[in-house]
Amino acid sequence: MDTRERYRQFLLPVVADGVEPVVVVSGKGRTVVDDQGKSYLDCFSGISVVNAGHGHPRILDAARAQLEKLVHAASCVYPVPVVGELAERLAGVAPNELRKSFFGNSGAEAIEGSIRLAKQATKRHELVALGFGFHGRTIGTLSLTGNRGRKRENGPYLPGIGFGPAPYCYRCPLKLEYPSCDLACARALKDVIQQQTSGDVAAFVAEPVLGEGGIIVPPKEYFDVAVRIFHDEGALFVADEVQTGFGRTGRLFGVEHFPGAAPDVMAMAKGIAAGFPLGAFIAREPVSEAMRPGDHLSTFGGNPVSCAAAIANLDVLREEKLVENSASRGRALLERLGRLKESARLAGDVRGLGLMIGVELVLDKKTKEPAPKEAKAVRAAMRERGILVGVGGIYGNVVRLQPPLSITPEECDRAASALEEVLSKM
Ligand code: PLP
Repeated sequence: MDTRERYRQFLLPVVADGVEPVVVVSGKGRTVVDDQGKSYLDCFSGISVVNAGHGHPRILDAARAQLEKLVHAASCVYPVPVVGELAERLAGVAPNELRKSFFGNSGAEAIEGSIRLAKQATKRHELVALGFGFHGRTIGTLSLTGNRGRKRENGPYLPGIGFGPAPYCYRCPLKLEYPSCDLACARALKDVIQQQTSGDVAAFVAEPVLGEGGIIVPPKEYFDVAVRIFHDEGALFVADEVQTGFGRTGRLFGVEHFPGAAPDVMAMAKGIAAGFPLGAFIAREPVSEAMRPGDHLSTFGGNPVSCAAAIANLDVLREEKLVENSASRGRALLERLGRLKESARLAGDVRGLGLMIGVELVLDKKTKEPAPKEAKAVRAAMRERGILVGVGGIYGNVVRLQPPLSITPEECDRAASALEEVLSKM
């Protein structure tokens, strides 16, 4: 029985019926190989995870060495050297004096822990998130998610959550234009607190760049205004860096692009350990004091092998200058793809930061009617040309390019040329 048939027979349809028709058997650097021996340039990195590339030898060596020593001891119960070392390393690179970490296994778990900490630290219970935001698939994280497509047939969700308008300039929810809008979407958060909460707000939870919502890049000053509103209220800012973290946007963390985006808690996962399962949140010291032993724990959290990989991943990002490469390759790619807005009928908007780039497809540039079928067709045509890209956005109409950060100019050229050709034919 082949893998696709096994999937059909033995995996839930939620997975089996949604997967791409590529059975991936191996990966090295920016290349993955399918079960027919066909190679693909991976421009999606397993949903923005293998930032250092597939199977980086230094990361594998570090993981292998740890594997031989200890796989699991429950690092919340027995201290494990490599877990402490990773926590120290994260404190060394995190912004805004974020210092104390908690390790789990996934992005959703990192957000769940972050909101729990924010609630305990403020002794408040409400949260504010953003329309078009995405934070995971648990009930708590779905409650914070501003996308009904993800929340279908699964309510009721947590009460006490207000939603602010997305900082989505291409489809401004307030029908304004940047910069004459004077950041009305950020200022509107004051009204959200006023009108949608009881004034007991623990935290504002937001992604620096809204990934699943469609690679939405807020205006530069957005967080300056937004975060100040919450800090003035005595609420915290929880930055969801699950997708933007570890160099994806051309800085180690997405918040570093935005003056004033001073997180009190930051959630991380995806790119933290180059594909080994690991999630974490890191908090400013006074905030971190609020949770006491017994309040929070994760059996597999802080797996030693994943932590060893994460330390090596940080070394590789720094020594191979992958964050810098993300910035420069991303800038060049964005500039080139930006021309699609003129040359390609379907390309309504092209946006991004670093190697987190979205091409939003529309049927009509005036009405901006989303083109989700066309986005899927682009993904399929790229796949036929040996290039893997993602599709996202609340309307399913954004083609996502999020390759490993080690991508070369030639590989960028190949991906861009293929996308230009595919779009020119549609
Ligand atoms: N937060 C953001 C911004 C994400 O993009 C995701 C996943 O795509 C998550 C949280 C959830 O992460 P996970 O799938 O590891 O639970």
